[in-house]
Amino acid sequence: MEMTQRRSTPEIAIVGAGIGGLAAAAFLHRAGLPCRLYEQAPELKEVGAGLVVAPNAARLLRRLGVLGELERRAVRLDVGWEFRRWQDGTVLSAEELTASCERLYGEQTYTVHRADLLEIVRAAVPDGAIQLGRRCVELMQRGDRPALRFDDGEVVEADVVIGADGVHSVVRRALTGSPAPVYSGMCAFRALVPAERAPSLARRNAQTLWIGPDHHLVHYPICAGKLVNLVAFAPAGDYSVESWSATATVEEFLAEFEGWDPRLLELIRAGGVPGRWALLDRAPLSRWSHGPVTLLGDAAHPMFPFFAQGAAQALEDAAVLARCLAADATDPSGALQRYEALRISRTTKLQQISRGRSHINHLPDGPDQQARDAAFADSDPLVANGWIYEYDPDATPAFSG
Ligand SMILES: Cc1cc2nc3c(=O)[nH]c(=O)nc-3n(C[C@H](O)[C@H](O)[C@H](O)COP(=O)(O)OP(=O)(O)OC[C@H]3O[C@@H](n4cnc5c(N)ncnc54)[C@H](O)[C@@H]3O)c2cc1C
Repeated sequence: MEMTQRRSTPEIAIVGAGIGGLAAAAFLHRAGLPCRLYEQAPELKEVGAGLVVAPNAARLLRRLGVLGELERRAVRLDVGWEFRRWQDGTVLSAEELTASCERLYGEQTYTVHRADLLEIVRAAVPDGAIQLGRRCVELMQRGDRPALRFDDGEVVEADVVIGADGVHSVVRRALTGSPAPVYSGMCAFRALVPAERAPSLARRNAQTLWIGPDHHLVHYPICAGKLVNLVAFAPAGDYSVESWSATATVEEFLAEFEGWDPRLLELIRAGGVPGRWALLDRAPLSRWSHGPVTLLGDAAHPMFPFFAQGAAQALEDAAVLARCLAADATDPSGALQRYEALRISRTTKLQQISRGRSHINHLPDGPDQQARDAAFADSDPLVANGWIYEYDPDATPAFSG
């Protein structure tokens, strides 16, 4: 009897309350499945950095009932994919978003502070579902059930375990052995600039990408226009720290962009101490679900941020996972297999194309760069990337029948 009850509503444990883990809890709650979230941090907070919320992510936030709050806190982009030449800001291509996004995909594109997005998704998770200060150190097996051991020694059993514990996932390591990541040769600098100190070019509701030899730099406003988010990619040298809390100096950041358009140097100077994140490369996994344990978000498919899709893919995973578990709560292992089968080819493709993007953005000046710039002038990324933005988990044949 007890077993039947347990199986009809499985006990679900999620490791990690980042955007992916919170979204999973929110979609599970919406599907009538309770869960417990274990987060290592003593409080829920995110680093000072921005995110692009593309139409595929906005669609899922709408479904969680939190898009209105996003609209209040974020910036709705008028212009996206505005590529500019590194030296003088010549516009190579630009995409008008306001009318076309809505027309093509039924949703807009937004830019948001990560902390705002975290709070927005958190609001869709019931109070009491999240336990803070709980660092999982081991995935174990207790009889036929998976179990989690925490750093205080406590062991918690569940029917389903979801590893949403990010790039350094403990759950992934237990499932796959996690081969060491490969040095990519690139790192990201990031900074937030108070809007009043940013050049006017960077205060527009535009996502602008400056591309040049071995480097590119992206900026867009966030926090209802109060801040400008700046993220730049440069050679890493011998730097290999993959952490949101690691920092660089303004001088190091400026040195990477010496000779670039003076408005960019002004923006970098106005940003204060920059963060620095080494981009480490991890090959796509061939499977994520092992019996009643699975992975989600960066734990499953960490990707370079060149398509700005990591958090969006975590949201998609969360929506699909909840649908699969709700459809077959009596067979969680089968539901997790189905989840993986529905998701893995899409996220693998995004991992692969995100990796390829760095080469194109970083060409040295010369014939290849000129050919690229000519191709950009004719390109329409909003349409070309339609397969990314039109995705709707609820409309996939698996669920719409
Ligand atoms: C420079 C940069 C720019 C980016 N820009 C974009 C963008 O514009 N758009 C976009 O969609 N994506 C972007 N991304 C990607 C995006 O940040 C990630 O894909 C997204 O945050 C993944 O969410 P997650 O919940 O899977 O992982 P995380 O956000 O890493 O969350 C994991 C959570 O698990 C917790 N945790 C970890 N280990 C344990 C443990 N052992 N026990 C308990 N808790 C644990 C962590 O504390 C954390 O809260 C960018 C990434 C980078 C590096």
